[in-house]
Amino acid sequence: MLFKNKKPAGTSFEAKCSILADIWLNHRTDDDFEAFCEYNDIGLPLAYMLDSEIVATTETATKFVEETFGLLLEGLDLKDTGFESLEEILGADAEEDDFDDSSATPSSKFCGNCGAAHESETVKFCASCGAARI
Ligand SMILES: [Zn+2]
Repeated sequence: MLFKNKKPAGTSFEAKCSILADIWLNHRTDDDFEAFCEYNDIGLPLAYMLDSEIVATTETATKFVEETFGLLLEGLDLKDTGFESLEEILGADAEEDDFDDSSATPSSKFCGNCGAAHESETVKFCASCGAARI
């Protein structure tokens, strides 16, 4: 979590603060987050203060937020794919299994010989090189 340069596509520090602040402000008493908030009783209000620009961050404060956010993802069994809001994190759980396999459609949109795009779904031969459509 602390190796920021290894995760270029991860959640930005600003977003982490905002997400953690959201939890602390709105979900502190939720069953799902109660234990998390109790455990992170410094990281969460700290994130809120940073998000609200009450205080500016320091190296130590940044570490606190990074760690707290890491624990959040760990608790939810999520990888940091670059979140922007709490809704996104809570929704990511449900969306994970929704990948449809429709990408396995026949490759008949392009000519197997020259790679040119066919002009319509019904052509029998490539308009570019004349090869029979596969
Ligand atoms: Zn062709």
